[in-house]
Amino acid sequence: MESGHHYAIARRRMVTEQLAARGINDDRVLKAFLAVPRHRFVDAAVGSRAYDDCSFPIGYDQTISQPYTIAFMIQSLGVKRLHRVLEIGTGSGYQTAILSLLARDVFSIERLAPLLKKAEAVLGGIRRGSIRVKVSDGALGWGSYAPFDRIIVSAAMQDRPVKLLEQLADGGRLIAPISESSECIVLFTKQGDSITEQRLARCSFVPLLKGAG
Ligand code: SAH
Repeated sequence: MESGHHYAIARRRMVTEQLAARGINDDRVLKAFLAVPRHRFVDAAVGSRAYDDCSFPIGYDQTISQPYTIAFMIQSLGVKRLHRVLEIGTGSGYQTAILSLLARDVFSIERLAPLLKKAEAVLGGIRRGSIRVKVSDGALGWGSYAPFDRIIVSAAMQDRPVKLLEQLADGGRLIAPISESSECIVLFTKQGDSITEQRLARCSFVPLLKGAG
């Protein structure tokens, strides 16, 4: 059993070597990654390898994303203190915890009920901000809490996230991996009636699946 001190060292190294060294320079983002105990969101046997530069299986054919990928997406999204953020694909809940330290409210949707139950149990035991979750098909968004200032999708979508863009506030941003021809992280920005689209990076995610799990 590794000590809390051991994990804190691994976490600091992750932030310095994987995030700051590769261009993550938003101080609030780096602080959030220093604060959230990533090892709690993976199998206990993984230990401090949870802070390695990779994704890990979390069961049900799903993975907790690589730290850099999450940091890159969150930094690109530009999450501010007063924002209401919608997350699609709670998974382990790790990214949910990070977002909750950066925004006022996080709403997170997961299609697999057992994964969400596990995530809620972990989130219940750590320091975090306001989080509301539900089991559903995230592609439909969460109409009763719309509009959202920021939306982040953690599984690859086949096409344009039409419903989610409808639930985006004016001036809002949405980031998602989209696999039209090849998989790419795309940032959408809404200004009045117009939506601009920016391709940021190539990527590889588990697919966004249709319907509830
Ligand atoms: N950020 C999470 C990523 C988990 S992987 C983490 O780091 O742990 C992507 C997640 O999206 C999986 O848990 C998967 O079950 C979920 N998912 C896939 N399709 C979905 C859909 N249509 N609606 C909601 N969640 C979905």
